Amino acid sequence: MKEIIILGSTGSIGRQTLDIVRNYPDLFNVVGMSCNSNIELFNRQIAEFKPEYVFVNDKDSRLKCELCGAVMLESSESLASINKGQIVVTAMVGISGLLPTIAAINSGKDIALANKETLVAGGEIVIKLAKEKGVNIYPVDSEHSAIWQSSNYGKAKDIKGLILTASGGAFRGKSKKELENVKAIDALKHPTWNMGAKVTIDSATLMNKGLEIIEAKHLFNISAEKISVVIHKQSIIHSLVTYNDNSVIAELSYPDMRLPIQLALTYPSKIDTKLPELDLAEVAKLTFEKPDLNTFPCLGIAMECAKKGGYYPTIMNGANEIAVQAFLNDKIGFYDIPDIIEKAINKCETQKPVTLDGVFEIDNMARIIAMDLIK
Ligand code: MN
Repeated sequence: MKEIIILGSTGSIGRQTLDIVRNYPDLFNVVGMSCNSNIELFNRQIAEFKPEYVFVNDKDSRLKCELCGAVMLESSESLASINKGQIVVTAMVGISGLLPTIAAINSGKDIALANKETLVAGGEIVIKLAKEKGVNIYPVDSEHSAIWQSSNYGKAKDIKGLILTASGGAFRGKSKKELENVKAIDALKHPTWNMGAKVTIDSATLMNKGLEIIEAKHLFNISAEKISVVIHKQSIIHSLVTYNDNSVIAELSYPDMRLPIQLALTYPSKIDTKLPELDLAEVAKLTFEKPDLNTFPCLGIAMECAKKGGYYPTIMNGANEIAVQAFLNDKIGFYDIPDIIEKAINKCETQKPVTLDGVFEIDNMARIIAMDLIK
């Protein structure tokens, strides 16, 4: 029986993790769960999965939590550090995932990493700490799970490069002119993946793929120059690994996050996901295109930040979180997102050595600059 802690159980990844637990009650036991503010759903989840420890981030929602015998802790970090649980699913949004991930690593728990911003903002620190503590970080992001599987779970040698596939998001094929006046509601209609609001907007700007380049760089210890992106609108090939002999190994399946989530929980076993078997004749056609960096400047910005390293990804991530929230609230336009990020990068101090305190300081600075620009 594997004991699981889910940080962010009411979000898209959290709910799908609980689906897997529901499918395999003999394999998994949820010992801890947290949410931000969706207390109605959280109360139903507590009643069904009976965790021993919980945390609710929003204070008003916390008062409405029906504990069913669970203990309410004072922070995500304390939940990640409880004296139980072998693996922590980090499914919260944004940089809020960084401290609890560090807490989980410090307490010796493996990480099923669904919070990519943690590695984007503080990748150097998190990877180094995981190594020191002998903790495994298993990817949940579908692209990284595909690379993991296609590289013999990260053990393969002779890797020449990684190819991340991108669905292209809601605005694939559109021109700059067509996108000038789009609103959040248009971006939230994602063609192949059903995800949370933040990642769906990131997907529409292609920033999501940029964040994933940085995530892959840290997870697989490879330079950003060796990571490329191809638009693959069917979302059947989840990513590919190119070897030194120019052979390429990929992982294919219908797009469903329950597959990579489950593998992170059952590794090295690949057990039934109860998802349909891939029917290639039915899929019929897999297509590939170059990403359009002119129409989607966020991807180019992220590629540059990935290459530069240091605090560049931290600034980019902080400014992006603020800009995406403002776009979701209809306060700024689609192309204000890359503008704000670029301006924040140009204004922030970036030369200092990377420390955990520095990550929060620089992240905060980037957010303040971004908020000033939005006003
Ligand atoms: Mn992804």
